[in-house]
Amino acid sequence: MGKIIDCNKVNPQSGCDHVVRGETEEELMANAKEHAVSHGFKEVTPELVAHIKANIREETS
Ligand SMILES: [Zn+2]
Repeated sequence: MGKIIDCNKVNPQSGCDHVVRGETEEELMANAKEHAVSHGFKEVTPELVAHIKANIREETS
């Protein structure tokens, strides 16, 4: 089972309902960084990484 991050939990102002998925935390964070860039984040700071990681949850089918 994979891991997911709800974009609207990380960034409630975005109004984005995208869910980032990954099989591993590594893959998930890579996808999350890519998604953050699509929101206009020019660089993913350690603070942002910590904030994203705090919102990781296990995917439940
Ligand atoms: Zn988003």
